[in-house]
Amino acid sequence: MSINPLLESMTPYRPGRSIESVKRQYQLSQVIKLASNENPLGPSPKALAAIAKYAAESHLYPDGSSSELTEKLASHHQVPYDHICLGNGSDELFDQLIRIYVDPGEAVLVSQGAFNAYALSALAHRASVIEVPLRSDFQIDLEAFDHVLRTRLKENKIRLVFIPNINNPTGLLLPYQEIVNFLEKWGRNPEVLIVIDEAYHHFISSSQYRSACQFQKEFPSLIVSRTFSKSYGLAGLRLGYLIAPSQVCTYIHRVRKPFNVNRLAQKAGLAALDDHDFLERSQQLIRQEKVKIRDFLAEHQISFLPSEGNFYMINMKRDLKLVEEFFLKHGVIIRPVDNYGFTTWIRVSVGLPEENTKMLLVLEECFRKIEELPDHRY
Ligand SMILES: *Cc1c(COP(=O)(O)O)cnc(C)c1O
Repeated sequence: MSINPLLESMTPYRPGRSIESVKRQYQLSQVIKLASNENPLGPSPKALAAIAKYAAESHLYPDGSSSELTEKLASHHQVPYDHICLGNGSDELFDQLIRIYVDPGEAVLVSQGAFNAYALSALAHRASVIEVPLRSDFQIDLEAFDHVLRTRLKENKIRLVFIPNINNPTGLLLPYQEIVNFLEKWGRNPEVLIVIDEAYHHFISSSQYRSACQFQKEFPSLIVSRTFSKSYGLAGLRLGYLIAPSQVCTYIHRVRKPFNVNRLAQKAGLAALDDHDFLERSQQLIRQEKVKIRDFLAEHQISFLPSEGNFYMINMKRDLKLVEEFFLKHGVIIRPVDNYGFTTWIRVSVGLPEENTKMLLVLEECFRKIEELPDHRY
């Protein structure tokens, strides 16, 4: 049987290595994982209590419309109820959007060197992916996005545009004005939807930052996505949501699985939204540890990008296979990001203070023990 060539060319999403498998492979008793931008403080304690409380009801189907959580999020964002839709992680919602809006032969527009879940979903649905190169400063190039839309929207049938702000793996924040300019041009165009992915919203401390949520009324083609995976520490429960035009939510409700958000995720999400103390502690920890990591890297003249997230992208200037192996051998799981086109860079998540200290020790040793590549490789 012949398979769509797009699928033949796909490589599966590469998740971070698990602690268990690294312990086994390297016979280590202690392994730390700084590979998936998870919350180092664990889940919100209020969410944990809710999970414990409701675990005994796991024989019951969830509320298929997640109504209580949807209501709470609507009031949290001050939008009507029908402008919120929940998913089994935000990645499920990206997938649904593509299912709804992009037919085979039509296209999504993404940035190279950006979160690749969007492109993988598009390929899986036999849609085309148009990738715009990053600018030389590693920033997502919204002017180039604009150019592609102006010249190819009709011809290539571009239906969805994905913009992660901040971007993963770079951690870079898009200047506010660039987003406004882009939305002024395309946010009212009925032929295309703009998805701004704000997975790291709570970690951004730049005074320049404002969430795209505020534009919802002004730009009817705008969708904002958020997740409980990072700042709320609930990655394992799979919970994300869109703040979107009601028409978009209506279609999502038609195509989604009837119980896509499980019972415990709904209960945990409700509790996490009230856990202001946990959110504050998470933000505080990340802020404080980022200063430590940044100072260390600067002091050792190691190049890294000025991330606004709970992770840093660092240029090792060395063979990544050797670098990853070195980290693993020393019990630290990091993420090589060569699959994003950054051939000598890794991404490390900000962990607990002692985890970061250990990571920096291994990093320093790695620089000493593994030889640098010749210049042209980075
Ligand atoms: C982690 C992350 C998400 C979250 O995905 P979930 O499916 O909600 O866990 C979304 N977008 C970006 C850019 C991310 O890095």
